[in-house]
Amino acid sequence: MSVQPATQEIITELEAALSRIGVDANAWKGNEPVSTPVTGETIFSTLTHTAKDVDAAITRAAEAFIQWRDVPAPVRGALIKRWGELLTEYKDDLAVVVGAEVGKITSEARGEVQEMIDICDLAVGQSRQLFGKTIPSERPGHRLAETWHPLGVVGIISAFNFPVAVYAWNTALALVAGDTVVWKPAETGRLSAVATDALLARAVREVGAPAGIHQLVLADRVAGQALVEDPRVALVSATGSVRMGREIAPLIAARFGRALLELGGNNAAIVAPSADQDLALRGIVFAAAGTAGQRCTTLRRLIVHESLADALVDRIAAAYKTLSIGDPRTEGTLVGPLVNKKSFDAQQAALAQAVAEGGTVVYGGDRVLADVHPDAYYVQPAVVRMPAQSAVVQEETFAPILYVLTYKTLDEAIALQNGVPQGLSSAIFTNDQAEAEIFLSARGSDCGIANVNIGTSGAEIGGAFGGEKETGGGRESGADSWKAYMRQATNTVNFSGQLPLAQGVKFL
Ligand code: NAD
Repeated sequence: MSVQPATQEIITELEAALSRIGVDANAWKGNEPVSTPVTGETIFSTLTHTAKDVDAAITRAAEAFIQWRDVPAPVRGALIKRWGELLTEYKDDLAVVVGAEVGKITSEARGEVQEMIDICDLAVGQSRQLFGKTIPSERPGHRLAETWHPLGVVGIISAFNFPVAVYAWNTALALVAGDTVVWKPAETGRLSAVATDALLARAVREVGAPAGIHQLVLADRVAGQALVEDPRVALVSATGSVRMGREIAPLIAARFGRALLELGGNNAAIVAPSADQDLALRGIVFAAAGTAGQRCTTLRRLIVHESLADALVDRIAAAYKTLSIGDPRTEGTLVGPLVNKKSFDAQQAALAQAVAEGGTVVYGGDRVLADVHPDAYYVQPAVVRMPAQSAVVQEETFAPILYVLTYKTLDEAIALQNGVPQGLSSAIFTNDQAEAEIFLSARGSDCGIANVNIGTSGAEIGGAFGGEKETGGGRESGADSWKAYMRQATNTVNFSGQLPLAQGVKFL
């Protein structure tokens, strides 16, 4: 089958990158086409795992857990150290695979791999700090303490838009904690998963860790459901849409499993009259148009003080006109393609709904490059002025559409910011310290991420990542997120030679 020259180039680059990484591509070949969003054409075909395969992977991971939990945590950390080194060595190659498969611009694809390296660093340090507290006991001659133990098998379900970083957030911490992992990547993201898993497999071999501790299943969501329903999977860490969370959360709860949910966002930034307008503009454009609007933290709603709105919207539109849209591998490209036609259809439907609900498209929204790549979907980032109340603004449309709303008072702005079902990321641009503090206080943003003078996207690994409300409540990566991968035991040790009972109870 003949393909466009650009597709052929991508295939050549992809095969070379996979080979350098050490992937045995033939072992993963099958009938499930992998297309590149860059041209929309097929670049590979992978095998597909069934629910039975998922079951077998869980069995292998459960068996490996018996060995792995007894390995001292700092020794487990040595595995992650090696994985991080390999990710550093093959950073550009893995970025090529990610770029080919999900269409990220090169700098962002490399940034995603850097995030994996960063979490490995964090997890190595964490491997020496899985500590619990010692608590004063009310009884003489007693010690009260907490200890942390691994959970068992962790099932990881990941989304297409961060096909490797989110897996690494989970896996680096889970493996250090003593858990084993079974990974079901998104349908778009399978090759990136194969490449990532190959580097982990090499690290496992080199440090002599049990081979079964990491399992990869290229399953669709139906077969992937086996991971959700299996009682041997102690924790299901799932990243994706609110729809997915609604489907799987009741199934996990029904078996009393643990769930770590990282679901959709509908992120807003407030621009106050005192804000540095140039800084705000740059923050807004990166957060709203970067990754072609396909980040969970993408800026989707701009809440601007009414005195600034006209001027700021004009400047955003002018900045959007300068963004180069196109092949994400080309230097200088800032906006790559949408992932597929479904995504484009959702973008078009949202724009039509916005207009029907009284919105005005100030700039963008059109498909471009259709003549060059008829099967790929490149769109201009859109800026849309909206009335205060509308249904479309309540939803996450996974495309670069920025809805602009206006406000008069800070309370009104915060109410608008919080007035959506999702609660992932938020920001305020202001030079008024009191406003910033109010935004960060309990009566301010209700999101898991609340920023000042920086956009909604581009979080660092050191802080906990996640959101509230329909975003699911999960926390991953830094701070004390490691605790989600472990179980806590409370130990009371009596060295008094007596048996005093708590609360002064007398018995015998
Ligand atoms: P999606 O919900 O379509 O799929 C995500 C993953 O869930 C895929 O692996 C899919 O196969 C799997 N899945 C879906 N239904 C399932 C089921 N019933 N059982 C088992 N597995 C199932 O999401 P997507 O389109 O890949 O990703 C985009 C979405 O992910 C957006 O909503 C975005 O905001 C969200 N996201 C959230 C975060 C976060 O940290 N909060 C990070 C990245 C992406």
